[in-house]
Amino acid sequence: MKVLGHRHILETLPRLKAQTFLFSGPEGVGRRTVARWFAAGLNCAQGFPPCGACPSCRLEPHPDYLEIGPQSETKTGRKARLPQIRLEQIAPREGQEEPSLLEWMSTYPRFRVKVAVIDGAHWLGEAAANALLKLLEEPPGFARIVLVAPSRELVLPTLASRSLEVGFAPLPEAELRTLSTDPEALAFAQGSVGRLRWALEHPQDLARLTSRVEGVLEAMGPRGGPAQTLEALQLLGELEEALPYLARRLGQALSPEQPAYRQALEALAQAQDALAAYVSEDLVVTWLALRLARL
Ligand SMILES: [Zn+2]
Repeated sequence: MKVLGHRHILETLPRLKAQTFLFSGPEGVGRRTVARWFAAGLNCAQGFPPCGACPSCRLEPHPDYLEIGPQSETKTGRKARLPQIRLEQIAPREGQEEPSLLEWMSTYPRFRVKVAVIDGAHWLGEAAANALLKLLEEPPGFARIVLVAPSRELVLPTLASRSLEVGFAPLPEAELRTLSTDPEALAFAQGSVGRLRWALEHPQDLARLTSRVEGVLEAMGPRGGPAQTLEALQLLGELEEALPYLARRLGQALSPEQPAYRQALEALAQAQDALAAYVSEDLVVTWLALRLARL
């Protein structure tokens, strides 16, 4: 079972006595991979590090491992405005086919430990979070619960206060270079294995994103203006992915001493905070266009 980087976390995690963890850090740096590695080691015949060959390491899906994530469709099948982890994913409901987390956790493990991963714990609805809280308050001895979220601040305080935070940093470029030395892909990845894999698997999408980011830089230039910047930003799409990349390209286009560079980075950081706080993407783009075009 190979995990790229995070050596310190892999060394400490098996020794931690907590039952509930909060894996915080940016998307794609390996939080879910480490959660699977952790679950494998807890049930592996030889313990940590997991051997990768015993029945417990090989089983996929594993009877003692459960991942729950946000759903972006409403119950009637329409696209929801925001993804959400719903109450029925956590607590049982009458007539429901899929077992909920609480039901799954109510039976003994087949091996030694049951590990539940709540991916996107910042998308837990209030009712779902309250149901989960009951489990976190008195988890059975065989249970480990891993909440995965971008940061502690985004998770409800009642849940965060019952979890031991394990912070994941972006991977150093040297680690990522073991997977690829493509400069464009590495520039896009910015310390994230997930982003690097995406870039390597979707070269055409990466090329399109790259040219659209160049379009924004051009629209911000002397021949552009607010309208052109707005248009270029609207073309970007997938803002949460594109904005960090834009920030990096700005860093290459403007020198760090220029006040415009600092202002642009501030504007991009504020735009990302706004997106994380679920402000509408249209609004963020318009605001950002006005800020960037003024630099
Ligand atoms: Zn094993």
